[in-house]
Amino acid sequence: MNLDSLTISSFSKSLRKKEFSAREATDAFLRAIKDKDEKFGAYLTVFEHEAIKEAEIADEAIASGDAGALTGVPLAIKDSIVIEGARATAASKILKTYKASYDATVIKKLKGARAVFLGKTNLDEFAMGSSTENSGFQITKNPHDLERVPGGSSGGSAAAVSGGLALAALGSDTGGSIRQPAAFCGVVGLKPTYGAVSRFGLMAMASSLDQIGPITKTVEDAAILFNAIRGKDEYDATSVDAEYDENLLNPDFDGVKKLTIGIPKEYFVEGMDAEVKKEIEKAIQKLKDGGFKIKEISLPHTKYALSTYYIVMPAEVSANMARYDGIRFGVAHRKRYGGIPEVKKDAETLRDLYFKTRGEGFGEEVKRRILLGTFVLSAGYYDAYYAKAQKVRKLITEDFKKAFNPQSGGVDVILSPATPTQAFKIGEKTSDPMQMYLSDVFTVTQNLVGVPALSLPVKQYKVGGGELPIGFQLVGRHFREADILGIGKWYEQN
Ligand code: GLN
Repeated sequence: MNLDSLTISSFSKSLRKKEFSAREATDAFLRAIKDKDEKFGAYLTVFEHEAIKEAEIADEAIASGDAGALTGVPLAIKDSIVIEGARATAASKILKTYKASYDATVIKKLKGARAVFLGKTNLDEFAMGSSTENSGFQITKNPHDLERVPGGSSGGSAAAVSGGLALAALGSDTGGSIRQPAAFCGVVGLKPTYGAVSRFGLMAMASSLDQIGPITKTVEDAAILFNAIRGKDEYDATSVDAEYDENLLNPDFDGVKKLTIGIPKEYFVEGMDAEVKKEIEKAIQKLKDGGFKIKEISLPHTKYALSTYYIVMPAEVSANMARYDGIRFGVAHRKRYGGIPEVKKDAETLRDLYFKTRGEGFGEEVKRRILLGTFVLSAGYYDAYYAKAQKVRKLITEDFKKAFNPQSGGVDVILSPATPTQAFKIGEKTSDPMQMYLSDVFTVTQNLVGVPALSLPVKQYKVGGGELPIGFQLVGRHFREADILGIGKWYEQN
């Protein structure tokens, strides 16, 4: 069994042909984690016993002819998505001892499909960051170069898939946290349309932007995993039941080739690394040579996207973080209420409890965003910042509506780089948050607008091949994941 070359689709075929059992596959992945994860630091928690039990159940299902596309598939889950009974920390010290009391809807769906959960992966604390260096627990390394970051915030999930420590993974994306690490690690990442996947059981960062999505080795796998987790959920009022047809899983390439791809000129002006630019241009050429219609378009408000994101997002963060107060959630500074072992002296007053819990439990980046968020929402500044940002968000959305409007010669899909640079060195940007924020310049816009976006490598990268991956991004109309996955699959197979 070659774990590195296995994909979800080849795995299921092998299982059915009895080339190996789900149990054997899970054992092999658990061994790989034992051997290699000391180096990568992808996992925060590994579910040895539970994973084996789940694999055995999967094998029974296969034996009784009751297997689906994900039966027995060993997955890694970002640690901000909850699994009943399992530790879930969101890589924050404040949740160091927290155990979830229920399954996220995506987990419930995957359990129903009899997938196997290998463990929970590292992230930037509460998904705030672009390098996974903001984790309260450990640094994750890029399997392609151990001195470099895997990207973030779903860096653990991307490193696990790229390093052969999971067949596929779930991440979450608020401003690029699936797509940017996928690009840095040479794998595929899909941020679904806002509302396509239930957020119930995802620890909220910025609720109007967050989406759960797959990180996989191939576009085909991303479609399989997305298809398994999507759909309306009574526990998430923003989720919807959109219509998807068989093209989602089996794109008809003749139809796909009729799609027009737009290249937004604003994305190719400044700040992009020369090597990245060269590779993206090659990717565009490959699509042209393949017969796709390519057209230059304009998204005039692009330059405001990053500033808008860094107002809207912290505003929502500051509200969402309020629940970690040591009473509702968060390690209490009171021993008899399950306080962390490090607590030497219990908090004496309520104020003292809040200060200690949040002061010691949250890391610097989370505190920075709570401060920024409360500031932009404060009475004196609300109109100048938050209300203004909401208006600009609307203008940015209008840009996309126009670009995608079939009545005025609009395109079907938009292509852009996924990141302005390749994976950077560990420590390179930690002292300068502004530099870190700039690495999200190509990915935050799609969350503000809610459209789906797929990040895929410009070519296949092998761990140990000595190359640093580069990715590009395909953005589609709302609920048209089939378009971007279709083009992505064509690109990957040609
Ligand atoms: N890197 C971005 C940020 O720091 C996006 C994070 C995310 O998508 N969760 O906010």
